Amino acid sequence: MGTADDVLAGIDGITGWQEELYAHLHRHPELSMQEVETAAEVSRRLSALGYAVQQIGGGVVGVLENGQGPTVLFRADMDALPVEEDTGLPYRSEVPGVMHACGHDLHVAAGLGTAALLAQGRDAWGGTYVALFQPGEETAQGARAMVDDGLVDKVPRPDVALAQHVLTAPAAGKVATAPGPVLSTAASLRVTVHGKGSHGAMPHLGVDPVVLASAIVMRLQGVVAREVAPDRFAVVTVGSLRAGTKANIIPDRAELLINVRAYDPAVLEGLLAAIERIVRAECVASDSPRPPDVEVVDRYPLTRNDDAVTATVTAAFVEHFGAARVRTLEPVAASEDFSTIPDAFGAPSCYWGFGGFTPDQRVVPNHNPGFGPAMQPTLRTGTEAAVTAVLAHLAPAR
Ligand code: ZN
Ligand code: ZN
Repeated sequence: MGTADDVLAGIDGITGWQEELYAHLHRHPELSMQEVETAAEVSRRLSALGYAVQQIGGGVVGVLENGQGPTVLFRADMDALPVEEDTGLPYRSEVPGVMHACGHDLHVAAGLGTAALLAQGRDAWGGTYVALFQPGEETAQGARAMVDDGLVDKVPRPDVALAQHVLTAPAAGKVATAPGPVLSTAASLRVTVHGKGSHGAMPHLGVDPVVLASAIVMRLQGVVAREVAPDRFAVVTVGSLRAGTKANIIPDRAELLINVRAYDPAVLEGLLAAIERIVRAECVASDSPRPPDVEVVDRYPLTRNDDAVTATVTAAFVEHFGAARVRTLEPVAASEDFSTIPDAFGAPSCYWGFGGFTPDQRVVPNHNPGFGPAMQPTLRTGTEAAVTAVLAHLAPAR
């Protein structure tokens, strides 16, 4: 029996309240940076478990000091999405238009289960455990808000920072991680181009921003194909293009929302520079009366797993779950703001995925109105994974 097995021996004892908590959170989702009730619930429970609790930047941090040994931070995110739930689950959302469609309710329940097991099993390990619950992951605001509110000065500096996410693959009951980049760095831009309004029958008297914006959309498709090396990953997507109100009016502006992703920050910078250059050039080409407005509306750092930390986590997973339940995490094009936290502390980190769908279930992707992970074995797997990875970095009891 290793340390993890000693601590995890208590898992059957927490499953009841953990499932109830998960269903409760799922029924009462809160949007990014509005996680007031969720944060209050987390605070109450961490306090009851004996953690020193602080509210920081809309998030909650519980610290459990337990003698000599390393400090390990584990992060769970708390926010839901503006999605109308369509799962048919008995515990479906009771908030119209808001849903835990990314599984962050699972993360909170697994995070609190982990906090409980580490507190109950404190005779089996030494060191300091930092249970961190962040707001606003979906908008890339939450980790930054906690850092801006003094996170680094308010809690012990972790030697290692860890986080997890429920995913559609591998299957429920399995975990997956890998060294190196596992989630992309991303940015979203709002671009407004200016035209000159006119009657639809008199285009020669105006400057048509619809044609201008269309030229930009088409020209941007060449950025990845012609400016990024063929062996590099990059995505440029125009997710929204809005202009005008009526068929016979040439409007005076058009707005584009553009999302870019890469696994290399230098590639991302290249994409952003190319977009700005093309937008400005197309405005000149169309004789736009004013320069365009280009605004970065969100920005996600690269999630890069530290080699040594990931090797330790993977070995602990294999020992606990068995090799058949531990998979290699293929790089995911999605993005996370988690690494803002380890970066602020200068700590190495590891991020892993755990499966949410059993083989007999229809797999529905994250952010979809039908996203309904199987409560078990998902919740248990997420809790076991977190406890195992945390204990792999804490000291064994002396
Ligand atoms: Zn999400
Ligand atoms: Zn998520």
